[in-house]
Amino acid sequence: MIRTPLAPRSWLPLLGILFSSCLCGAGFEVRVQIQDPKGKELAEPGRLLCTEWYPKINALLFGPGTELPFQEVTLVFEDSIVSNSGQQHTVVPAYTSGNKIHVNSAYVSELHKQLPADYSGMMIHELTHVNQHYGNNSGAGWLVEGIADYVRHKYFEKDIEPRLPLNSNGELPGDSDKNSFATEGYRRGYTITGPFLYWLELRKNKEIVGILNRALRESRYSDKLFQEQCGFSLGVLWQEFVTQSKPGRALP
Ligand SMILES: [Zn+2]
Repeated sequence: MIRTPLAPRSWLPLLGILFSSCLCGAGFEVRVQIQDPKGKELAEPGRLLCTEWYPKINALLFGPGTELPFQEVTLVFEDSIVSNSGQQHTVVPAYTSGNKIHVNSAYVSELHKQLPADYSGMMIHELTHVNQHYGNNSGAGWLVEGIADYVRHKYFEKDIEPRLPLNSNGELPGDSDKNSFATEGYRRGYTITGPFLYWLELRKNKEIVGILNRALRESRYSDKLFQEQCGFSLGVLWQEFVTQSKPGRALP
């Protein structure tokens, strides 16, 4: 509230400033909710990062000038996040629901001390989910996670490669489910699907991520899009990617 009395003419430039900041501002706000003391050190770097990257990711995925999905993004720092599946309890570092990113402060503050870049990278992945704002993803959760890691590693960490670290048999070292990896490893999501998307972009269709992203947003995604846009079925594309990821293979 402005309490200083102002002569009438003095209001005019002030109003101009107020209106211009409303019209030309970014049009969104990133808020924080700290429910755990460990979240304090994470909140401000997280807020600044998301303020910078929320409009950037939107432009990368949907094109410059596309409306943001939410006018507000909230970062919630909680003391613990656990996923319960039957008897199994798994610690979850973070998850996103709508425009809220929930961060496990206890887990992530340790990570932040050891690997500050990893906290930032994780936040970019979660923030991408806010931008994605897909409704029904037609069972393509793997692709949703792959796109989030593609954004994180291509644009933020800038360490994405169009291949996986496979052995000479085309297997992930230490992987216990070789059969499913060989036929449909793309369904693993995250750091497996992200490089696959990057490879598709370089080798098959440079618009593929944007096309898949739009289809997911508009609830019309199906695996057939890969055939239509890249010329081969998802399974065939995956096998070519695996072959080209084997050590010693020069990328064509
Ligand atoms: Zn995710």
